Amino acid sequence: MTEKRLKIAVQKSGRLSDATLDILKRCGLRINQSKNKLITHVKNMPIDILFVRDDDIPGLVMEGVVDLGFVGDNIMQEVSLQRAKFGEQAEFVKLIALDYGHCRLSIATTEEQNYTSIQDLSGCRIATSYPYSLGRYLEEQGVSAKIVHLTGSVEVAPRAGLADAICDLVSTGVTLEANGLREDEVILRSAATLVRRPTIENEALKQLVDRLIVRINGVMQAKESKYIMLHAPKNQVDAIINLLPGAEKPTILPLAGSDDQVAIHAVSTETVFWETMESLKQLGGSSILVLPIEKMME
Ligand code: ATP
Ligand code: ZN
Repeated sequence: MTEKRLKIAVQKSGRLSDATLDILKRCGLRINQSKNKLITHVKNMPIDILFVRDDDIPGLVMEGVVDLGFVGDNIMQEVSLQRAKFGEQAEFVKLIALDYGHCRLSIATTEEQNYTSIQDLSGCRIATSYPYSLGRYLEEQGVSAKIVHLTGSVEVAPRAGLADAICDLVSTGVTLEANGLREDEVILRSAATLVRRPTIENEALKQLVDRLIVRINGVMQAKESKYIMLHAPKNQVDAIINLLPGAEKPTILPLAGSDDQVAIHAVSTETVFWETMESLKQLGGSSILVLPIEKMME
């Protein structure tokens, strides 16, 4: 029997693609990505990567066609609400909240709307690509409005006379501003996420998923963390360690030919700023090095 391979769905081309592939590569997967292929076999692990539109990922995961998917919370929520409404399988397991793809699903209106509260939108037309998420939100708020479903160019709908308000993804707000819109309500905060199909029966695949989770967490942690080395007066060691965020267990080493100086090596779990380095120096620190960390495992 041939070995079972883990199937992972990633966005083919879009905002999540590069960061997702970067994580997978940092996890040690050798991926030969050829642009127009639907599927790529990872060379050094029993894993296949499927390149699809992000909108297709929730369905593939919920149906168990793939084992894992990298996709935004926004799409996961929208598709689960839609599928639940039609009585289709809408279950999945969220494994990891990732550190990219941050955005908000927000309601925005034009200046003329004079928006003060969501109740003002009663009887209005709201254009969106997220009819199920918006529908649920309006229902929760007890607002009855007409949802205009558009799959693109939502932000121009008010100017085109198609809607009075919109509900769309926002990250910087520049697009809204360029279209004369103001963000009034955030209905969902979203980021990229790693999701799993409801159940994986195969023991080997289960273990592979667990290994991957450890590696992804390690990659995310390593991105933030830094390795710090410096020389310091012995009597300032405590003060110096207090300055290093998240460096609980530093290594203190004797310095050859110096009785009152030691070397401190520590992993800081947060970014080390220039200000921190200046403070270290003020405490008598010298030869201060801050190094990036490539991988981490607890
Ligand atoms: P596809 O062709 O795969 O359907 P798409 O056009 O629907 O692509 P992208 O614009 O690439 O999708 O966005 C993918 C995801 O990136 C979104 O679903 C969301 O989770 C996230 N994202 C982060 N910031 C933004 C933003 N400002 N606008 C849209 N999506 C954003
Ligand atoms: Zn999409």
